[in-house]
Amino acid sequence: MARLIFLGPPGAGKGTQAQIVAARLGIPHISTGDILRHAVAQKTALGVQAQDYMDRGALVPDQLLEAMIEERLRQPDTQSGWLLDGYPRTLPQAVYLDTLLSLLGQPYDRALNLEVGDETLVGRLLSRGRRDDTEPVIRHRLQVYRDQTAPLIDFYQQRHHLLEVNGDQELDLVTQSLLTALSAAGLSVPSTP
Ligand code: ADP
Repeated sequence: MARLIFLGPPGAGKGTQAQIVAARLGIPHISTGDILRHAVAQKTALGVQAQDYMDRGALVPDQLLEAMIEERLRQPDTQSGWLLDGYPRTLPQAVYLDTLLSLLGQPYDRALNLEVGDETLVGRLLSRGRRDDTEPVIRHRLQVYRDQTAPLIDFYQQRHHLLEVNGDQELDLVTQSLLTALSAAGLSVPSTP
């Protein structure tokens, strides 16, 4: 059982690593980006409201995410734990999440921060080819990350719940570093995939 929060700039490889680590720990990978893209594709009320923000590389308003994340964390599969990828992304979201998790009786274990230098990020994002991966939109997402999301590193560090991992390594090594950091923090990591 582990409850983890994944932080890192766009292009850090957060989504890829989150998926691998969640599978390894046997917990659901909850990606707000994936849930929102699905909502956009299905043209749900949430998707219709979120689409324009996402296409511009802006953050979807905090309020729209709240019901979505609460609904997801109330689903039965979260009893085994969860790995949150892409949430929280702002200080108000982190504060909301703290309140929600105490309401649900699901305290998080650790926040993981995947560090990657700026030079690497733009190159990685441009090669990904998602519809919101054009250069001006990418630059805007990086700016939004610095202004709104990077302060969360301090937020979790002050709570002594932060683990820092170097994301600027080969994919397998990043996974290994994440699992080693979790194990060193006392979380149980199954030895075979
Ligand atoms: P990336 O991997 O590039 O960071 P994501 O797949 O996590 O992208 O998210 C894509 C887009 O979805 C973001 O640019 C943003 O518009 C929206 N989004 C995802 N999570 C959140 C969130 N927690 N708060 C606000 N907007 C979000």
